[in-house]
Amino acid sequence: MIELKQTSKTYEVNGKKVEAVKDVSLTIEKGEVFGVIGYSGAGKSTLIRCVNLLEKPTSGEVFINGVSLTTLSKQDLQKTRRKIGMIFQGYNLLKTATVYENIAIPLKLEGIDKETIQKRAEKYLEIVGLSDKVNHYPSQLSGGQKQRVAIARALAHEPEILLSDEATSALDPETTEAILELLLKINRELGLTIFLITHELNVVQRICDRVAVMENGRVVEEGKVVDIFTHP
Ligand code: ADP
Ligand code: ADP
Repeated sequence: MIELKQTSKTYEVNGKKVEAVKDVSLTIEKGEVFGVIGYSGAGKSTLIRCVNLLEKPTSGEVFINGVSLTTLSKQDLQKTRRKIGMIFQGYNLLKTATVYENIAIPLKLEGIDKETIQKRAEKYLEIVGLSDKVNHYPSQLSGGQKQRVAIARALAHEPEILLSDEATSALDPETTEAILELLLKINRELGLTIFLITHELNVVQRICDRVAVMENGRVVEEGKVVDIFTHP
């Protein structure tokens, strides 16, 4: 479903090369919850941006559903991008828009009709448990609720893959647990493949099937979570 083949990404900063991702090969199966864990600067964000097409690998390839992204036309890239939803540590909600509008505006920009937008907003707000907050503004919501809106917004595009960049890192332990529970529900009930990056071991232990450990741009270990980490 997601396949990285000898993917590398090098940035050039003031004439100096920074190898953020080095020769990473990973396969994430359909329906899996896969985590990449590592310290700050390990290259996790760069890696996930290569999957989301926000970043082009310097070398190597990324395949989505068996199709190499390097071979796609601009139009087909756009189509592939629609299969992928993403959530972030900082939620990235529009401050001046209501919960409903935060979900509706990106759908409208995609050319989806009003009726479908309304149906999807209702459906996914119910799934994330925020039906009663539809006309609230982000400033009226807690961190966990904002992340639920961001999740509903991602789901409303009906993607096959959900990417998560440190989605629970700004949240307290109880809220983190509730969001992780929601991600598991989305994986199990809606069948989405989840690819997440985190620096938190508890996130990986709580919801991931498999994990890759990243250090200095490289994957240094990979396998089933139960095989890689001992439980306390
Ligand atoms: P992580 O997400 O694990 O913290 P990053 O992917 O953000 O790691 O960063 C990996 C390395 O790449 C770091 O050394 C970082 O400074 C560098 N880096 C990340 N993004 C850029 C960029 N846009 N330009 C230059 N260097 C970058
Ligand atoms: P337009 O697209 O012309 O701006 P809409 O009918 O899409 O108008 O929406 C107008 C406003 O009504 C939105 O900003 C939103 O706040 C509210 N709204 C529309 N549909 C719903 C809904 N299903 N639930 C709650 N609020 C809604």
